[in-house]
Amino acid sequence: MASLLDPAARGRVILVGAGPGDPGLLTIKAVDALRQADVVVHDGLIDPAVLDHAPAHAQRISVAKQRARHTLPQEAINALIIAHVRAGSIVVRLKGGDPFVFGRGGEEVEAVRAAGLPVEVIPGVSAALGGAAEAMLPLTHRDWSSAVSFVAGQCKPVLSDAAGGVEGGLSEQDWSGLAGKGRTLVIYMGVANAAAIADKLMADGVDPGLPVAVIEKATLPGHRAIRTLLADLGDMVAREKVQSPAIIVAGEVVLLSDAENRLQTLAKQAESFA
Ligand code: SAH
Repeated sequence: MASLLDPAARGRVILVGAGPGDPGLLTIKAVDALRQADVVVHDGLIDPAVLDHAPAHAQRISVAKQRARHTLPQEAINALIIAHVRAGSIVVRLKGGDPFVFGRGGEEVEAVRAAGLPVEVIPGVSAALGGAAEAMLPLTHRDWSSAVSFVAGQCKPVLSDAAGGVEGGLSEQDWSGLAGKGRTLVIYMGVANAAAIADKLMADGVDPGLPVAVIEKATLPGHRAIRTLLADLGDMVAREKVQSPAIIVAGEVVLLSDAENRLQTLAKQAESFA
């Protein structure tokens, strides 16, 4: 049986969501986890104020950009975490947003469990939620949207039970059922492909006049939310030189995010009642 004197008995991993950027969006549990950390393994885009919650002696390891300016492969990150836990460390694996929303948290949990080591997950504010709050863009609204979907504008092939797996990525996705009246579609990792995404949605039957917003650098300095209609999405992203990180939101709720638009919407509604 493991004893408390056995360093491996102490070692564990805490996967922590750091939120979309603003250090004020860390949860109290996230701060508590950081305070206990011996090692913090973090992605890029983490505010130094977040890392300051870890003790000064805690080792801080960025797996975002190494010397060669390459992201560490997932297997190498898993191996790094496991090695530190085996040495008896409390490893905080800090991830942008929420670990289980396009954060590969599932893969890391599986790897740590397969190594027979303890792991827990502390959720974080995902970019869609942080960005929506900041832009005053309700993702659901009793009058306008009763469903919200999060999709990846770019992804690795999705596994299936069929031999080998199905091709993932943009061209194979059919999101048309996720966008339109009464629904909100949020696209992560989509700005680089914005024009292709818009074309695909329209080809699949989504109204070119569907309002869309791009929320750039949500909760970070220099954040902005810009709006247009689906047909103009690709052009707007190019025109406005939108930079990463950014999300795309498509749906009528986008109209609520802008005070002037909202008044026009209400005026139109009022006309239709007259
Ligand atoms: N786990 C993260 C998502 C990681 S995928 C989360 O829950 O938020 C990376 C993508 O998230 C980016 O390409 C971008 O689409 C989105 N993203 C992350 N931080 C963002 C921010 N501050 N503003 C806008 N989009 C952001």
